[in-house]
Formats: sequence, structure tokens, C-alpha cells
Amino acid sequence: MAAQPAFRMLRWLVRSGTRGCSSGAPVTQPRPGVAPPPTREELPTRLQYLREHAAPFSAFLTDSFGRQHSYLRISLTEKCNLRCRYCMPEEGVPLTPRADLLTTEEILILARLFVKEGVDKIRLTGGEPLIRPDVVDIVARLHQLEGLRTIGVTTNGINLARLLPQLQKAGLGAINISLDTLVPAKFEFIVRRKGFHKVMEGIHKAIELGYNPVKVNCVVMRGVNEDELLDFVALAEGLPLDMRFIEYMPFDGNKWNFKKMVSYKEMLDTIQQRWPELETLPEEESSTAKAFKIPGFQGQVSFITSMSENFCGTCNRLRITADGNLKVCLFGNSEVSLRDHLRAGASEEELLSIIGAAVGRKKRQHAGMFNIAQMKNRPMILIGG
Ligand code: SAM
Ligand code: SF4
Repeated sequence: MAAQPAFRMLRWLVRSGTRGCSSGAPVTQPRPGVAPPPTREELPTRLQYLREHAAPFSAFLTDSFGRQHSYLRISLTEKCNLRCRYCMPEEGVPLTPRADLLTTEEILILARLFVKEGVDKIRLTGGEPLIRPDVVDIVARLHQLEGLRTIGVTTNGINLARLLPQLQKAGLGAINISLDTLVPAKFEFIVRRKGFHKVMEGIHKAIELGYNPVKVNCVVMRGVNEDELLDFVALAEGLPLDMRFIEYMPFDGNKWNFKKMVSYKEMLDTIQQRWPELETLPEEESSTAKAFKIPGFQGQVSFITSMSENFCGTCNRLRITADGNLKVCLFGNSEVSLRDHLRAGASEEELLSIIGAAVGRKKRQHAGMFNIAQMKNRPMILIGG
């Protein structure tokens, strides 16, 4: 993602050793080799000037379609304290031996490298990231990385109320909580475990601690929870929630079928029938969500349309699995082991060229929903959603 104009200008000011004033004239002389700032007459072309002088984004993180990957999702564990039907096969998944999982130090080495190259947002995911014993420490150490603007977590919410005060102090800036039903008995059916009240407690704790919006992820499945759409939306009336409805995606072992998927258009239609005043919000750059607001509501509603309308064109995401593989596309099965190279003593430059080659091979877009359904991929829990 390109830097915002204000950041670019700041960067120019820092690099050139000048401080701007209202006339646009430099207070001190620019350093040799650095272009002078625009004069008053040239101000109309300032935007173009800023564009031309923006620091180029890392070539290693830019793919052959010009997409700049500034968002990294790191899976902290393959384990989970729930067994969601849409994510985990009923029989569970074979777990990677502990010795083959990234250690905390390895996670931090890789995170540092990506941040140095321009990643400004890291999301911790899993499995369930909040069962990793040193998750607070990881957040605190990531928080020290210069250039990292946001640390987020995607969690099932079970351990959230207990850990959030510490996580917030450590620097956690954004939270996504998964919740697919508001009916406690149905919760147990979907996730094959108890814990509905703990998740609700986690959501309220996040609101109490000032997270805004608190994003709630709901995977919508026909015959399971599509009848609760309006109840979920109603929750956003009095609470600062971003209710995110996710189209059900196929992964190995989750028994996906086309009929179980409720498309974004269908969900939107249902919600519009109840709230015709629903307004589209402007799309954020690289956002995977289509966002809407209902006048008078504190929160908002979004849709993650991975199946019916892919957002590959603006994809800025990379993923590192808990066993240290770099995955350039959620739906692609091509992976490269950063762990193996790291453990073989690869230098920073070598790692970067391996990362650059993988990013360079990223396809323009995933293959479309019917192909996705037939494609070999890891179960979601081993990818880190
Ligand atoms: N355990 C954490 C959680 O549940 O939030 C983080 C990992 S989970 C794999 C990340 C996200 O992927 C969750 O919001 C989950 O709902 C979503 N997810 C898992 N399987 C999915 C599927 N088949 N289709 C759509 N979303 C899915
Ligand atoms: Fe666990 Fe999250 Fe997968 Fe549910 S969606 S089984 S909580 S990793």
C-alpha cells in the first residue's frame, strides 16, 4: 500500500533535512542530492511531486502486478480450544511436531525483516492465537518494531476478557472476534465446545477498553445461522461493532458445498429489506470488506466476499503459517519454508530474495469459487485465516 500523502511529506522533510513553513519555503537548506521542495507557484503540482518523491516500496514485497504487500498475518499456533465445523475437520488435524514450529525468536526475526521492508500491519492469528502462552510478550516485542503501525489479533474470544488488559498494555491495536451465533446452544453445535458467554464477555471487554470498532466475524452458513443475520445487525445499533459477515469458504475437510454458501448479495438483500436506509461506506484501500452504515447505528456492517466477488486486485496480504511457511495467497497451495532457510543460516539478503521470489510468483487472482472448492489446500486452521 502506498504511504499516505502526509506521511510521504513527512518522510521528505525528514530525508531532506528541511522543515516546511506556510509559504512552502524551506527553513534550512536541503541536503545535497535531495530535490528542493516545490515553490508557491508549483503548489498545484505538489501531489505529483510528493508521488514522485515517495520512498519506493520494497521490491521484494511488490509482486509482478504492482501489489505492495504491507500487511502480514502470522499464525502463532495450529492448536485451538474450539472445533468449528467450517474450519476444522471433525477428526481434528495432524499437528506439526513442536520442533518444526516457529519459535518466538524466529517469529520476531521474520517480523522484523518484513517490517523493515515496509509491512506496517501485522495480525496474529492461528489456530487460536490467545492460547499461545507468550502471546502478550510477542505483542510487546512487535510493538517495539519501528514502522509497525498496527498489531491486530483474530481470536475466538474464549480467553479474550482475561488477556485483553495485558494485551492492550503491550500494544494490541485492533481486535477481530469470531462469533457465528447469538444462541448459546447453537454455539455449542457450531464450535463443538462450550464458551458462548466467554466470547460475549470478550466482546464487551473490548468495547469497555475502548476498541472501536470491535470487529465481529461471522461465517454465514445456510441452514445454520443465516436466520440470525438481522439479530447480528441489530447488535451494532447500540454498540461500536463492525459486524462482518463472511462468505463460507471451502477448505480441506470442512464439507463445504455451494448450497451452504450464502452470497454477499443475498445477505445484503435480507438486511436491506429490514433497513432500506442502509448506506454504502467508501471502500478503504486494500480492504477486503464492503462496508455499510445504517443511520443512527453506532456500529456498521461489512461483508467479506471472498467467494462471490474476490478482492485479489488490491490484495496486500502475506501469511506466515505456524510452521514457518510463507503463503502469498490464502487460496493458493504454493508455499515456501522460511523456517528451513532461517535454520540453515540464511542471511537477511538471502531470506529477502527467497521472499521476493515467492511474492513475484503470486498470481493475479485466485481461480474462482468452483475451482477453489476443488483445490487442494490446508484446512483453515493450519493456514491461519
Ligand atoms: N481462532 C481464531 C478465530 O476463530 O478467530 C483465528 C483463526 S480463524 C482460522 C480466522 C478466521 O477465519 C475466523 O474469523 C474464522 O471465522 C474464519 N474462517 C475459518 N474457516 C472459515 C471458512 N471455511 N470460511 C470462512 N471463514 C472461515
Ligand atoms: Fe479454532 Fe478459529 Fe478454527 Fe474455530 S475458526 S476452529 S476458533 S481456529
